[in-house]
Amino acid sequence: MNNRGYYDRFGGAFIPEILVATFDELVTSFTEAKNDPGFWQSYQDILASYSCRPTPLTYAENLTRYCGGARVYIKREDLNHTGAHKVNNVMGQGLLVKRMGKTRVIAETGAGQHGVATATMAAKFGFTCTIYMGEVDVQRQRPNVFWMERLGAEVIPVRDGTRILKDAINEAFRDWVRNMDTTHYVLGTACGPHPFPEMVSYFQSIIGKEARDQILKIEGKLPRRVYACVGGGSNALGIFSGFMDDAVELVGVEAGGKGLETGRHASRLCSTDGSVGVAQGYKTYFLQDDDGQMKETHSVAAGLDYVGVSPILAHLKETGRVRFESATDREVIDALSLTIQKEGLIPALESAHAFVQALKEAPALSPTDAIIINQSGRGDKDIFTVADAFKDPKWQEFIKKKAEEYHA
Ligand SMILES: *Cc1c(COP(=O)(O)O)cnc(C)c1O
Repeated sequence: MNNRGYYDRFGGAFIPEILVATFDELVTSFTEAKNDPGFWQSYQDILASYSCRPTPLTYAENLTRYCGGARVYIKREDLNHTGAHKVNNVMGQGLLVKRMGKTRVIAETGAGQHGVATATMAAKFGFTCTIYMGEVDVQRQRPNVFWMERLGAEVIPVRDGTRILKDAINEAFRDWVRNMDTTHYVLGTACGPHPFPEMVSYFQSIIGKEARDQILKIEGKLPRRVYACVGGGSNALGIFSGFMDDAVELVGVEAGGKGLETGRHASRLCSTDGSVGVAQGYKTYFLQDDDGQMKETHSVAAGLDYVGVSPILAHLKETGRVRFESATDREVIDALSLTIQKEGLIPALESAHAFVQALKEAPALSPTDAIIINQSGRGDKDIFTVADAFKDPKWQEFIKKKAEEYHA
């Protein structure tokens, strides 16, 4: 990365003039924190006491036997507080907010997971918290909105545009311009203007540091391959960073949705539907038409359903350091079923994308090879989607009964 936040031709900071001083303040504060030997320790300490870190690396004995090839290990980010790796990033940014002396945080959220994580961090640190969410997403994600409100956050439905994530991002930036003296914008993934891609990856690098130590301890050598799903790219960069300088293959798996050929997916790097452009403050591959209008995306996993991708991953694709694949909704449901039944683990639908690719490749590897799958989150949150996919009649009956109770 150069000092303006470019990773070769990707990244940068395309921000309104009025926010330049705020971004400079953030860069300075982040740089100071990184150079303060006590900061990483305080970050590790708070995650250890609040979020079960270090998360375990689990040997998947039954999946290994089933595949008949590489030894399969699973990094358990699902065991974090709030159920995914997102808490790593928000707690790190929370510590920075304290250092900057600010008292209020804002965030945008699509599926609601980042909103819940941010509202949790705000409650813990005593910040006031406002979450912007497209009106359509507010309606779709009621359980997450419910928890954000219980956690004391104000959830503002955004009625502009198509009333989804990108409209919420615009509104969050408008808020920041009005309130930059008191407020920090907690971006949820390794995207957006510099320094967010670098900063979010830095906090998530705790996953890769732990995983590298753990696999060396258990196997006595490095893994052959590491797999992670790719939404914005933060869990992938987090685990990959631990192995970046090693002879370890890194595989990112995007949302193939209904299939790349249908156009109904969220694959910016594997499909031919993505192209390089500038939007939302940074330069990367976006799913956009020839006029730069963002396309509609689709994935069974709400957390992967995003038009852009980390500029760091776009760069690592071009250098060939990371290989990208995609998994369809159907494959994801199958890999999820298999993992639940064989290992008693319930990966999030997002994480199940990484499982699809790993389980495809494991049989062709040798039993002396180890592979690691990053289980970025747990699947409890997906009960509505997964039950629908299985067309579970008892579940449908339960939902009907609940609805009737409210009508009565
Ligand atoms: C949000 C989310 C993702 C996608 O975000 P990245 O920034 O790509 O990591 C993946 N898995 C889970 C469980 C999530 O909640």
